[in-house]
Amino acid sequence: MSLEARCGVEKVVQILSPFKLVSREYRQDNTIIQVGNQSIGGKEVHLFAGPCAVESRSQLMEIAFAVKEGGASFLRGGAYKPRTSPYSFRGLAEEGLELLAEASAATGLPIVTEVMDTRLVPLVSRYADILQIGARNMQNFPLLEEVATSGKPILLKRGPGATIEEWLMAAEYIVLQGNDQVILCERGIKTFETQTRNTLDLSAVPIVKHLSHLPVIVDPSHGTGKWWLVPPMSRAAIAVGADGLLIEVHHSPAEALSDGEQSLTPENYYKLVKEVQEVALSVGRSLPNPTEKRIQV
Ligand code: PEP
Ligand code: MN
Repeated sequence: MSLEARCGVEKVVQILSPFKLVSREYRQDNTIIQVGNQSIGGKEVHLFAGPCAVESRSQLMEIAFAVKEGGASFLRGGAYKPRTSPYSFRGLAEEGLELLAEASAATGLPIVTEVMDTRLVPLVSRYADILQIGARNMQNFPLLEEVATSGKPILLKRGPGATIEEWLMAAEYIVLQGNDQVILCERGIKTFETQTRNTLDLSAVPIVKHLSHLPVIVDPSHGTGKWWLVPPMSRAAIAVGADGLLIEVHHSPAEALSDGEQSLTPENYYKLVKEVQEVALSVGRSLPNPTEKRIQV
């Protein structure tokens, strides 16, 4: 008997792409992810901002209030940092999670933070509103399956050497576990170019939008590695249809324990937000949480 003829089958859709559940063929409407009172993937574009790493209570509180002032929807900071060198600062671990919870309670901003290890998924899930899978772990399949079962939305970064198809296949691993709350994040790929830390592939945004129903945001901080490239690439990201931006902010970039060279000061961040707001309006989108600060700059 053909599938169509079976009792209870209304329609059979043949999906030709290698990824199935994340494909546009499977779902035509954009997936919108609701976190608190913010919708990711809808008309509004969101800012996921904060320090690369949680360093101390005073550092985090200062930056958390600054990004809130600039209209961020989410506070993003790392308690577990994947560092190229094992001798670099690797995060405050559980203490960092506790500080993130404190900053969230003080500012009202939901938390996005990275989980690197399957063993830590239950712990990190207790503190995070959105779990981040870092670029280096994009194809850590047991980790993808484990975070999926947390029931939390997942921010899935593109691997530095991953094609768009491999990235969407990684998202498929999560959705296949029954969690379709996946936010894709373009953060630059490795090329032969040396002027930037990575090559930010902005063409990935409209391509992903074409191939998939999942929201996609852009991280111009890791994508460029240079703070002064972050504002122009943020404007471009919103112009090509990104649903949000992941921006690293530090009140004293020269003293940051990680990624200071790509971190914006709060003042530069406020300026960026104002510029991004203008681009968003010109493409029929907007930033939520308009604040005085943004208007004054
Ligand atoms: C980060 O977001 O802090 C980070 C380490 O990024 P990525 O995984 O993209 O390198
Ligand atoms: Mn970083």
